[in-house]
Amino acid sequence: MSELVPIIQLGNPQLRHKSAFVDNIHDEEIQRLIEDLIATVAQAHGVGIAAPQVAAQKRLFIVASRPNARYPHAPEMAPTAMINPRIVAHSTEVVKGWEGCLSVPGIRGLVPRYQAIAIEYTDRNGKLQKQELTDFVARIFQHEYDHLDGIVFVDRLESTLDMITEQEYQQRIVNNP
Ligand code: ZN
Repeated sequence: MSELVPIIQLGNPQLRHKSAFVDNIHDEEIQRLIEDLIATVAQAHGVGIAAPQVAAQKRLFIVASRPNARYPHAPEMAPTAMINPRIVAHSTEVVKGWEGCLSVPGIRGLVPRYQAIAIEYTDRNGKLQKQELTDFVARIFQHEYDHLDGIVFVDRLESTLDMITEQEYQQRIVNNP
């Protein structure tokens, strides 16, 4: 049974730690953490969530892109647990796009990210996966990966002028894409 877990917010020092590699993916505690993260991100209308956001200092996150009220134009995919993820290569092209974070409520920012990345991670069954991600899903991966190193999207803004409130985001960006 999964349960919803509280999401810690910007200012909580636990969001700023470097997380530890997961040694045993089959550990009951890790499998339960994955279940809880999947339930929690769905309930919060997020498209991704990293373990440090629920104060678990483990190198794992969920990528769960799907259209919802917070991201109406997100592509649909099954929630995927990515454990001990790595970026093995990236495009030279960097693109700016809007991001929010369940740990930074009410704020959106225009964040530069690599347009494409080659990644590796271990899935929840312990199998090594290699993929290439582009555009919005590549953006989610890079955002969640940063959480494992204690980095939050506002750290990546080129200027505070690239930061707006959720209300202005909904009015200016979502309704006028
Ligand atoms: Zn986040």
